[in-house]
Amino acid sequence: MASGFRFSKRSEHALAGVHDDLVRVARRALELTEVDFVVTEGRRTEARQRSLVAAGASRTMRSRHLTGHALDVAAWVDGGVRWDWPLYPRIAAAFKAAAAELGVAIRWGGDWPRFRDGPHFELDRRSYP
Ligand SMILES: [Zn+2]
Repeated sequence: MASGFRFSKRSEHALAGVHDDLVRVARRALELTEVDFVVTEGRRTEARQRSLVAAGASRTMRSRHLTGHALDVAAWVDGGVRWDWPLYPRIAAAFKAAAAELGVAIRWGGDWPRFRDGPHFELDRRSYP
């Protein structure tokens, strides 16, 4: 069943510079998801990453965002962004289904045992070094 959701201009802009395989997964996830989402950030400059680390919003200068191997989403409900945790595993389920279908290995930040990062998806380093 198709969700009928479409990416906004903001999402399309955020997808610029992101690895094609991850973009394909995100597009398919949007078709499969029950919870609409926007792409808030894809590829990051080193300067931006440095400022995020300085602000404590990121912990590493080895971020997959720097190489276009990661993107962040935000749940979109009733015309606004929502950060309620329970929405994110539902979005992740769509990403995982899309990735399996397309044969693309991804990791969800929400599965990380420490510093769980629900909005974050990235290509698996083992397949995409
Ligand atoms: Zn991220």
